[in-house]
Amino acid sequence: MPDARPPAAAPPAVPPPSHPVRSVLVVGAGLAGARTVAALREHGFDGRVTLLGRETRDPYDRPPLSKHLLDRPEPAWLRDELGVDVHTLADTVQLGTSADHLAVVGDGVVVRAGAADVRADAVVLATGSRAVRPADWGDAVTLHTADDAAGLRARLVPGARLVVVGAGWIGAEVAGVASAAGVDVTVVEATTAPLSAALGARVGDLTAGWYAAAGVRLELGAEVTGVSRDGVGLADGRRLPADVVLAAVGARPDTGWLDGSLPRDPDGSLRVDAGYGVVGAPGHVRAVGDVARRWSARHGWVPGGHWDGALRGPATAVRALLGASSTTDDHEDPAPYVFSTQLGHDLTLLGQQGPGDELVLRGDPAGGAGWGALWFAAPAVDDDGGPGRALTAMLAVDRPRDVAAGRRLFGGPVLPRLDPAVAADATRGLRDAVVR
Ligand SMILES: Cc1cc2nc3c(=O)[nH]c(=O)nc-3n(C[C@H](O)[C@H](O)[C@H](O)COP(=O)(O)OP(=O)(O)OC[C@H]3O[C@@H](n4cnc5c(N)ncnc54)[C@H](O)[C@@H]3O)c2cc1C
Repeated sequence: MPDARPPAAAPPAVPPPSHPVRSVLVVGAGLAGARTVAALREHGFDGRVTLLGRETRDPYDRPPLSKHLLDRPEPAWLRDELGVDVHTLADTVQLGTSADHLAVVGDGVVVRAGAADVRADAVVLATGSRAVRPADWGDAVTLHTADDAAGLRARLVPGARLVVVGAGWIGAEVAGVASAAGVDVTVVEATTAPLSAALGARVGDLTAGWYAAAGVRLELGAEVTGVSRDGVGLADGRRLPADVVLAAVGARPDTGWLDGSLPRDPDGSLRVDAGYGVVGAPGHVRAVGDVARRWSARHGWVPGGHWDGALRGPATAVRALLGASSTTDDHEDPAPYVFSTQLGHDLTLLGQQGPGDELVLRGDPAGGAGWGALWFAAPAVDDDGGPGRALTAMLAVDRPRDVAAGRRLFGGPVLPRLDPAVAADATRGLRDAVVR
């Protein structure tokens, strides 16, 4: 039975490199960069591996920066969390070094890093993302690095007044931990509901009550007109006093340094095929993690920006780079997967909803036993009218069993088909709703 998804056509597959790869340069020493170095060695690559990273610290994990902002002062090092020690795996690790130009040549690449040029047979771009801070918000801080977290931690003492601009994933997480530690927290959100960009206004609205329950003031539909050292001005003329203002208004791929050398989307993303080959570039140029907008046969174009993609993508990218897989079918196609712990709740979003999708709630959001949201693709015009509908995405709130079931549902080559009426009943397993 045909599905309404994916809406776009697959890009032409990027071929394997046309020359032998004896040296690989990995740019960016975050999760995706570190996992790339590890994957190269796991796949038996014994050539030269160089890792360049702008931060001076060894690779660490970012999700704890917000969730454990106030109770975990040391970064969660990837060598402890994942057993990835880049210093033993790579031949050269240059931290505190920014790549500032890429030249792709026929049989390799040349990356300028400070005063030096680094040459390699292939490059894996893993420069992640950068938190957005509007140009005239110089007095607001952002949270993306361990240094940002250390700066914020020092200022969030009990009684301090924190205004968080943006009720997205990171804003909600920081608001919850700060309030629990005795900080006076207000969250300002321009749209009508928290998490509306990720979940839509109707589902996001179901999380609004969590703020008051956690002692956080939530201002919805409130547009910020200015940020200064001592507060935030709103379009309705009010002024919210603050000791700290956190801009949590999103992040963008950190690819400005590639300007002119590779095709980029307007938001800075690099489009990659199922083997993480950069579309429009030769096969020895790959991109992983937050910088990559990946083609998925099941979900269409999947933007970066989430941990699971940065963890899992590099193994596929390395296999394709080393010529170990030759067809799209060989590549893993993980479902987009986002997790968050916020304001006392665990959220997992799997898959990717589209604008015309139909929302079905699972369980009772007011019931206290966890709930969910399911998005179904509009029936395709040539749908045969059978009972099942293609599930494009699902959210599980405080329902770990649904997370496990959801991961299995999105494990096949096409979107799973479910009976929406059965799936809405939270007393039944999601598997019961599958229409075979
Ligand atoms: C506070 C916070 C909480 C998060 N929580 C969650 C969560 O709960 N769930 C979830 O799914 N995701 C979460 N994320 C997102 C997740 O951490 C990212 O998707 C993941 O870190 C992406 O890994 P990456 O390696 O692609 O990029 P990054 O982790 O951003 O690493 C990229 C590295 O490249 C370096 N770099 C950039 N430019 C250059 C250059 N020109 N030269 C050299 N080096 C450069 C950067 O300094 C950085 O160290 C969170 C992110 C943050 C900031």
